[in-house]
This record gives sequence, C-alpha cells and structure tokens, in this order.
Amino acid sequence: MALPIVAVVGRPNVGKSTLVNRIAQVDEAIVHEMRGVTRDRSYHTADWNGVDFTLIDTGGIEMGGDDAFQGSITAQAFEATREADVIIFLVDGRTGINADDEEVARILRKSSKPIFLAVNKMDNPAREDGLWEFYQLGLGDPWPVSAMHGHGTGDILDEVVAELRKLDLEPHEEVPAINVAIIGRPNAGKSSLTNKLTNNERSIVSDVAGTTRDAIDTLVEHDGELYRIVDTAGLRRKSQIDQDVEYYGFVRAMRAIDRADVALLVIDGSIGLTNEDQRVAGYAAERGCAMVIVLNKWDLVEGPEAKADIRERIEDRMTFVGYAPVVAVCALTGKKVDRIWTLIDEAYANYAKTIPTAQLNNFLSGIRESGHTISKGKAILRMKYVTQTSTCPPQFTFFCNRPDIVDDNYERYLENRLRQAFDLTGTPIRLKFKKKD
Ligand code: GDP
Ligand code: GDP
Repeated sequence: MALPIVAVVGRPNVGKSTLVNRIAQVDEAIVHEMRGVTRDRSYHTADWNGVDFTLIDTGGIEMGGDDAFQGSITAQAFEATREADVIIFLVDGRTGINADDEEVARILRKSSKPIFLAVNKMDNPAREDGLWEFYQLGLGDPWPVSAMHGHGTGDILDEVVAELRKLDLEPHEEVPAINVAIIGRPNAGKSSLTNKLTNNERSIVSDVAGTTRDAIDTLVEHDGELYRIVDTAGLRRKSQIDQDVEYYGFVRAMRAIDRADVALLVIDGSIGLTNEDQRVAGYAAERGCAMVIVLNKWDLVEGPEAKADIRERIEDRMTFVGYAPVVAVCALTGKKVDRIWTLIDEAYANYAKTIPTAQLNNFLSGIRESGHTISKGKAILRMKYVTQTSTCPPQFTFFCNRPDIVDDNYERYLENRLRQAFDLTGTPIRLKFKKKD
C-alpha cells in the first residue's frame, strides 16, 4: 500500500538528519531485519499515533543530472513540493534566518501542500523569545523543537499526522491488475520501453487515476492478463529552475514502488550500473516488491567482454536483489522486449505464491538431516516446523526453541536453501522466527 510522504527540507546543519532519526527511531528494528539491503539513510518508515509514513531527509537525496544542481537546496525544496504530502521546513533557531532559508521559503510559499515551519535547536523551552523572527518567512506559526532532546517534536508530529489522515491514499475502485512500476535513471529508456510494452498491446489509459494524485496509469492487456503500468518518470520531469536539467525523481520512484507488485528496474547499458540504480533497488527490496532488471540500450554495448563486465558488476553489487532476473534488451527496436512479459509473469507468480505447509516441512526435514545447525553456548537451535504466513511477498515463519540465536548468516543460509527447493525467482522473501518449545 502507498505510504504518505513527509519530507524534511532545510539547509545543511540545521538538524534534518537528527530530526529524522529521532522520529524514525521506533522503526530501526525493522531496518535491521532487512539484512543485505543497501540502506539509504535519507528515508525511513515511521509511524506516529498509528499512521505509517515515509520520512525523507531531502538533504540526503542525490539528484541526477547537472553537478551545479546536485543536492542544491532549491532542488530539494522543489522535489519536496512536488512529491511530498507534508513538508517540514527546518530552520536553525540559533543562527537565525539566512539567504538560503529565504530562498526555500519563497518556493514553499507557492506550494499548496501543508507546510510546518520548525525552528530547531530550541533546547531550552523557557527561551522561545527568538521565535518571532521566523514569522517573516511567511509560513505561519513557527514550531519550536529540539531534535536533539525531543522537545516539541511530538506536538508537531500530532499536527503532521492529522494532515496525513486527511489524505486519501487508497486506490479508487481499481481494476484488478498486476501493478508494474518502470523505474530507473533519467534517459535510461523508461519511456521507450513503456511505449514498446504498450504499443503492441491493447493499451487503455486509465481514466481513474490510481490515487487522488496526478498519476496517470496505463492499463495493458497481454495474453489475457491485465497489467497496470504505474506512472513514474516516464513522464519527463524537467526542473523548473533549468529546463535542460532532469532530476532523478527518487521520491517519485518511491511512490511508484509503494504501489507496485513488480518493479522493472531499467539500467542504461551504455552507462552501466550506477549508485542511483542501487539505491532505488534497495528501496524496492525493502518495500517487498518483486523485481526484474532490464539492461537497456544493449545495442550500444560492444563486444562480449563489455557485456560480461556489466552483468558481472550487477551480480557483485546487487546481491541484495540477487533474486531478480536480468534481461538485456533494446527498447528502441523492441529486441528481446517481449521476454520481459514472461519475466514479469514469473516474478509475479512467485511473489503471490503459496507453498503448502507439508512441502515446507519436508524441506525442513531435509535441513535437519543434511544442513548445518547453529548453537550458542550450550543452546542448540531446534527447528520445530515452518509455515508460510504471508504472500506478496512470501513470508515464512520458522517455529524454533531459540529464535534469539538465529543470526544473519543462518538466515541467509535458509533463504538460499528455500530458493533452491522452491522457485522464488524474482521475488524477495521474508523469514520470521518464533519461539516454540
Ligand atoms: P543536517 O545537515 O540538517 O542533517 O543536520 P544534522 O542533523 O547533521 O545536525 C547538524 C548539527 O546540529 C549536529 O552537530 C547536531 O548535533 C546539531 N543539532 C541537531 N539538532 C540539534 C538540537 O536540537 N539542538 C542542538 N543544540 N544541536 C542540534
Ligand atoms: P527515460 O528518460 O528513461 O524515459 O528515457 P527515454 O525512453 O526517453 O530514452 C532516452 C534516450 O535513449 C532517447 O533518445 C531514446 O531514443 C534512447 N534509447 C532508449 N532506448 C534505447 C535503446 O535500447 N538503444 C539506444 N541506442 N537508444 C535508446
């Protein structure tokens, strides 16, 4: 399900990451659970008063394109106004307002999104007389907070969450279809690929937007199955500052991933794997999306050596999505594009798969007989039984005497064995360990 997005904007050093870490604290345990995923510190899943949301520290977001534009405070502010549901604008109560704050405020004032002006480093609640200065930013009442000590953060979150509750994030009577998000860097070939995937098929631009937002999805029928191509940067996103600069739209990709069953990660073969590809793949893995990796512009990659290099790099640096099949295509001519449908179908089937408990327990007997066991001190891990407790993606719960001694290595070992025993290509899986004596 799509999570609402709360973005924290502000110039460097005002305390954005301190605030984000404080708010998201409660969820660090979940982050830990996602072993192997390249964690991106700029976003977290958080909850307050029972409302889940994605919290983004825009200072950590790298944008594609021009270097001068890279990470600029104005770019962050634009991205936030465009993609976030609620914006927390953080300023520094100790240093006061500077030109960057004014620039950000100017952009934010034009936005219709709910904006909270938070004045940080107000460590002493008795001394809030400095607050008046911030009214001149024209963003309403400033909220005094201390990200470091936690003063005031609960009050602001109450209001933020009240705004989030007003949003309507549920899909509107959507036609049942496999949701596919096409993600990747600007220029990787997402639009070309979308065109090729939709051209030859009966393509219906859905009249009902997926959410209340301005996303336009395309419904496609292929071999009797319906697919919804979830809108991402397929629509070209130009910066409002410089018309030639396109930015990656990481937040936009996150949004699409949140709604997707299967993510098609399009990598520009003429450039090879980039950090941006990795971080977006990490997010998809964390959100439990199935994945197919599409190496595009294969026509531009010359010679078997160069081709092998690219594939090898993906294998080495994308181990956390090692389950994702890789297909090399040319979106321009359509070569091998048809193959993508098969891979989407496989990935989706595995993502939605249910493995009978009897088969899982046969698997477990095999592990008991031939597998290695783990122990801690005198305690030996004994697995009692295993059952699938969820689908989309599949989650398996192992009942055992000592869940506390299961470590990352053992978990990885079990995952590998499960993948050998059952076809789980294309989908992440989750393992849980529960105590049972
Ligand atoms: P960012 O660049 O906006 O992400 O800022 P950071 O979160 O890295 O914080 C910048 C500096 O301000 C760090 O040295 C923090 O310890 C400090 N800081 C953050 N919040 C507070 C606060 O509430 N009070 C005080 N006194 N210092 C803070
Ligand atoms: P997007 O920004 O990810 O949507 O990328 P586009 O689909 O707009 O493609 C960017 C550029 O790459 C365009 O000029 C396309 O014609 C070109 N392109 C896309 N796919 C291929 C391909 O497979 N081979 C080659 N040579 N060019 C491609």
